[in-house]
Amino acid sequence: MSRYIDEKFSSLCAYTPGEQPRDRKYIKLNTNESPYPPSPSVLAAINQSEAESLCLYSDPTSKGLKQALARVYHISDDHIFVSNGSDEILNFAFMLYGGVSGAIFPDITYGFYRVFCDLYGIDAKIVPLKEDFTIDPADYQNTGRFTVIANPNAPTGLTLDAAVLESVICANPDNIVLIDEAYVDFGGQSCYELVKKYDNLIVCQTFSKSRSLAGARLGFCFASPAIIEDLEKIKYSTNPYNINRLSQAAGVAALAENEYYIANCQKIAETREDTVRRLTDLGFRILPSKANFIFAEHERIDGDLFYRQLRERGILVRHFTDERIRNFNRITIGSPEEMDALVQQAETILKGVGK
Ligand code: PMP
Repeated sequence: MSRYIDEKFSSLCAYTPGEQPRDRKYIKLNTNESPYPPSPSVLAAINQSEAESLCLYSDPTSKGLKQALARVYHISDDHIFVSNGSDEILNFAFMLYGGVSGAIFPDITYGFYRVFCDLYGIDAKIVPLKEDFTIDPADYQNTGRFTVIANPNAPTGLTLDAAVLESVICANPDNIVLIDEAYVDFGGQSCYELVKKYDNLIVCQTFSKSRSLAGARLGFCFASPAIIEDLEKIKYSTNPYNINRLSQAAGVAALAENEYYIANCQKIAETREDTVRRLTDLGFRILPSKANFIFAEHERIDGDLFYRQLRERGILVRHFTDERIRNFNRITIGSPEEMDALVQQAETILKGVGK
């Protein structure tokens, strides 16, 4: 850290993304990417002529991308904001709404929420999940705070029904409720259509997981036109060309081939259920996930040791050190072959630790 840094940032504890090591080839089950490549139309759209246009700025309004989203989601484009990854929407939303009255979210959830609170000096009320790691909706009635719930939650994969979330939205008429649906396409219930009914709701989604575009950095959210205006204001105050040309083209092409992605999500959900069955047979306890990852622990092996042993064997998963979840690992659902390798290695590791 340099001696010039503004004091208010010197103690900031930044977000640690999942590792992307280059030392050898790993089976990567640690950052919830899709095992399937983008659709052929995406590859065709990022063609030479698009690359040659990189000498020109991208469209700051991302109009084509918004219109493509509007068509697929049957909602008008004044309810849509698009971003450089959905992390950017979270960033803007915490910046806009967190300082007003503080924020509230669960103790076990996406780690970036705490970082944004730290970054913007937002008072965070952190509510413990129930013993079984579920969210108790009763904890989120009349919060008086910027309320953030990931559904499915990460890293647990557990979901709430849209009707339950609607009761939370109704019970917070004077503050924003943000539902982070990064993983909703793998079996959760989206509540995005409720933005037509409630002006205090933001529903975030991403192209990173279900649409195989993590590297393109594309996120989007649905909200009332007034909230979209707030988000646009911050965008134009920080980075007007927030989405580059290639990513806009990739997003439009991906939306034109939605069936390809729906089929991939279906395959991933099937692989998930198969992996759950096989790991359960090996004695793992796995929370019922509707995401493209599972959260698993085994009473015979420490979570960190299991993570390190898998890593030595060329498989990366994600281990967190928070006290409540340190015995668990979050395992991304890869291709059936990758999951075969995981199950095989898990079996070998367990044999090594004995009874
Ligand atoms: N929300 C949750 C719950 C996530 O796990 C992630 C991925 N790390 C994101 C949002 C952000 O994803 P992206 O910026 O790639 O859209």
